[in-house]
Amino acid sequence: MPRGSATATVASDALVELQLLTAGFCRHPEFLTLRGGALKPVPFPAGFAVIRHPRHGYILFDTGYSARFFDETKRFPALLYRMMTPVTFSEKDSAVNQLRRQGIEAEDIRYVVLSHFHADHVAGIRDFPHASFLYKKEAYAAVKNLGSFASVKAGYLPGLLPENFEKRSLFIEEANRCRLPNDFPFLTGYDLLGDGSLIAVDVPGHAAGQIGLFLSTASSDYFLCADAVWSSRAFQERRKPHAAARLIMADHRHYADTFERLCLLHRQYPHIRIIPSHCGEALLQRTGEEQM
Ligand SMILES: [Zn+2]
Repeated sequence: MPRGSATATVASDALVELQLLTAGFCRHPEFLTLRGGALKPVPFPAGFAVIRHPRHGYILFDTGYSARFFDETKRFPALLYRMMTPVTFSEKDSAVNQLRRQGIEAEDIRYVVLSHFHADHVAGIRDFPHASFLYKKEAYAAVKNLGSFASVKAGYLPGLLPENFEKRSLFIEEANRCRLPNDFPFLTGYDLLGDGSLIAVDVPGHAAGQIGLFLSTASSDYFLCADAVWSSRAFQERRKPHAAARLIMADHRHYADTFERLCLLHRQYPHIRIIPSHCGEALLQRTGEEQM
């Protein structure tokens, strides 16, 4: 095992395979997500990850967009969501269709880990009828009972969740807590499968109860940091989003705390590949294990 990983105690048979993919993208002015960035709108791919665990099989981390995003944003007030973040998506790019082209059927997906409940992360979950959903109870509680305007402001479209969503849910808070290495910027994690292979950590701020995921493959250590930052340049150059981005953050103080921890992780453990969900540059890096 590479030294200094959050998953350093993993037995080698719990190493996973990883594939980074995207399903659609939206456009935002760059300066909102990165201080000093361009005024013009730039594309933000909706990333998701396919993980293959030696015993548990296929696991997704988020799903990116699906065509349901358009169905759920046809009418006011959800229409505002689509207007604020114009989305480009083609059916062939949905998570389920991309997997099918690789010979992975929807029914093969055992778990979908949800970093948070924004539509660009959960829009595809109805396509996986046999999957259980793993997420922070706190993340769902923050959006579950919101009214229609508040839901849109929180980036949450309840129609994207299957009717039996709650029955199929497993709460990350109930997974084993584990201590991370002493000098690690994140102190504790949740050992999702009990073998140290997938360690969820809290990265709140962008959304309440947002989690990121540490994992190790045979060749690299990764931290899938969800929307803790929007691009790798943010932690590489220590550039926070524009103050106006606070409007779309659940808690900007938590965001700032998570941001500093991420910058520290990058400085102290440069070998860990930090993958923000919407960073085209990071998502395009080959994981070295494209074939599963
Ligand atoms: Zn997002």
